[in-house]
Amino acid sequence: MKKILLPLLLAALILAHGTAGAWGFFGHRTITQVAVYELPAAMQAFYYRHMAEVVRLSTAPDERRNSDPTEAPKHFIDIDHYSEEDPFGKVPRQYDKAVEKFSADTLKKYGTVPWVIMETKASLTEAFRQRDTVGIVKYSAELSHYVGDAFVPLHTTINYDGQLTDQKGLHSLWESQLPERYITEYKLDGEPAKYLKDPLAAVWTVVQQSYGFLGETFDRASKIEKVMKPDVRYTFSHKYGKTSRRYSDAFADAYNKSVGGMVDYRLKGAPTLVSSLWLTAWQDAGKPDLSTMMTPAKATKEEKEKLSTELVAWKKNTLAQDQLLLAQQKAKKVEVVDEIKSAKDMADAPDAPAEPAEAPAAPLEAPDSAIAPAPDKVKVKTKSKDGNTEKTKTKGPK
Ligand SMILES: [Zn+2]
Repeated sequence: MKKILLPLLLAALILAHGTAGAWGFFGHRTITQVAVYELPAAMQAFYYRHMAEVVRLSTAPDERRNSDPTEAPKHFIDIDHYSEEDPFGKVPRQYDKAVEKFSADTLKKYGTVPWVIMETKASLTEAFRQRDTVGIVKYSAELSHYVGDAFVPLHTTINYDGQLTDQKGLHSLWESQLPERYITEYKLDGEPAKYLKDPLAAVWTVVQQSYGFLGETFDRASKIEKVMKPDVRYTFSHKYGKTSRRYSDAFADAYNKSVGGMVDYRLKGAPTLVSSLWLTAWQDAGKPDLSTMMTPAKATKEEKEKLSTELVAWKKNTLAQDQLLLAQQKAKKVEVVDEIKSAKDMADAPDAPAEPAEAPAAPLEAPDSAIAPAPDKVKVKTKSKDGNTEKTKTKGPK
């Protein structure tokens, strides 16, 4: 037992710093909003009426990670743990078969996002069957969250933050800093929802695609690292007596030039799977008439006008420019950290990452990549994919 305690303690110390957010709140909320635009008419009026709530609740899984110890592994799958050459040939798609092969504990340790998506989809189907509006809103939002996570390449690897390749901070750069900074350049006009005969297969396809992007995710950062000096590459900040480091805006600009298309592609793809799973759950529940759950039962004139404006902007890819994204409207600056940036970037110090007003006041949501002493001799593996919380994984001495 003693053996385990020390690394745990050290990990806790290291993790006492902020962590990256999966897609950040910004990305998750944007994915959820766009998913509403992709729904068929029979579902859209209902979802549009509840859109603000569904969008807001799409970050609930991250928000509860502090209080719910079972939450963290639901957001990722470290597929390369199982095999580096052929992970998708090694891991059974079905949960039961995967448990049989690797044990439930192992699956939990290396992440369960594909199966959590299926579980949440089943809960949503049941909520539709029960005509349970609160449940429909809640599970639609959470389904959107976990699907969003599955679209992020860094949610599929043990090197989830570039920590094993000396690229710590890559996670938050890719999924928070880039989308928040370049959203107006991204195209969000994804495909309309369609019924999925085999949702589990669709989910695994997404995980496999995400994994396929990993090479470029790391390599393109390495290329820039080779030509950009460390003092330009990083931004250092002080918070709560700790110094932390994240990639600078200069690095983000260079990285975006290289991988921005990939980030956009993943951000644009996610809503289509989200809306398709919503549609599939609804259809599997026997297509309940959603208007019977609405008062008034039909979209109001105002709702119709607003929605049609938004749909036009969505198709023209001007949602962000027109400030029509709920994630933008609710965003406000978090506490400004004490920047001790590189001299080069002093002139235009970056804004703190935007967080929604109602985001919990996480005490330690400073940028990622905290500088902390690495424990000697013990390999401490930390899990902190997203959200304001983190989960600790520890491994004994090598
Ligand atoms: Zn997440």
